[in-house]
Amino acid sequence: FAAIPEGFPIPGKTTVYDSSQKIVLGTVPLNGGFLIKTLVLSIDPYMRARMRMSTEKDSYSAPFVLGAPLKSHGVGLVLRSENPDVTPGKYVYGVSIPHQEYSVLPNMEELIFLEKDPNLPWTVYVGAAGMPGKTAYMAWKEYSQAKKDETAFITTGAGAVGSMVIQLAKRDGLKVIACAGSEEKVKFIQELGADVAFNYKTTDMRTVLAREGPINIFWDNVGGDALDAALEHAAVYARFLECGMISAYNTGYRGSKKLHYIFTKSITVNGFVVFRMKPKYDTEFYETIPRLLASGELKYREEVSRGLETVGHTILRIMEGKNTGKAVVAVAEE
Ligand code: NDP
Repeated sequence: FAAIPEGFPIPGKTTVYDSSQKIVLGTVPLNGGFLIKTLVLSIDPYMRARMRMSTEKDSYSAPFVLGAPLKSHGVGLVLRSENPDVTPGKYVYGVSIPHQEYSVLPNMEELIFLEKDPNLPWTVYVGAAGMPGKTAYMAWKEYSQAKKDETAFITTGAGAVGSMVIQLAKRDGLKVIACAGSEEKVKFIQELGADVAFNYKTTDMRTVLAREGPINIFWDNVGGDALDAALEHAAVYARFLECGMISAYNTGYRGSKKLHYIFTKSITVNGFVVFRMKPKYDTEFYETIPRLLASGELKYREEVSRGLETVGHTILRIMEGKNTGKAVVAVAEE
């Protein structure tokens, strides 16, 4: 992490790839911890919020340290260990894996062991079977109060979180309206089973919601004007699931002008962050979702780039909406 961005994070300026650091795998001191080889790293929108001054507190995640590697969700293979509970050959999934080819980790804090379904690649375990999939599954269960034949509206429908939410809503028998920022993404949303799919850049959102609504459940990934449009077209007793506000991450938050609908329509608004839901749902998630992904009952789409040197470009791609699936960097084979 080389510099705090003012707007969009610029590869080569905000982040740099540094190949000068070397370690000797067989002798690097473990100090009671263990050595992992990084297999895959997740690139997620929240990483932009971590690119801030160390004194700014306006986020749930700690700022990245200037001059140190970025960190994100990732999967690693244990190569050596001085911890009797962590044996070489095991795979670990963590929320804060350093963006390095190899890392010495002190303990299992914020890590879990994973066993891979033979029909899924590791990349899926940071996407549909990882943090974004958990966000969708856990918050849908906890907050949607979904009832058959209700109508749900999902923004960023082709993304890692949104694509899972669409499928969960369809499995619960809802009518699903979803949008994304390109025709190609709209096609994917249709393949996921959405009843109404549109490109919010070329189609007026309010016209669609007026025709297809009112909305009983709004899954908000975007914030800003999309949130206001949803408030305008919400049904009485609607549930709003506030998952993210990516429209503001690079340009700053814009206050909603329609908040009065929360009381006039008796809307329930729940904001959430995935790590607070994990203690309740993690076991159930791993028992349910990887199996459905492996059998094809749930679909996923990824955009995998290879090598740590692609991290900066991948971060910018998701901020610009150019990613065509869950953004993942594959660092090494097993
Ligand atoms: P995606 O895979 O959906 O990638 C980000 C997408 O956001 C882009 O592809 C783009 O899609 C869309 N986007 C980017 N800029 C804008 C903009 N200005 N206005 C509208 N859409 C924009 O990411 P995720 O599925 O990983 O994340 C989706 C949301 O969920 C984010 O807000 C993220 O912060 C949030 N999140 C929240 C979690 C929680 O615990 N609360 C956990 C994980 C994610 P398009 O082409 O459709 O515009």
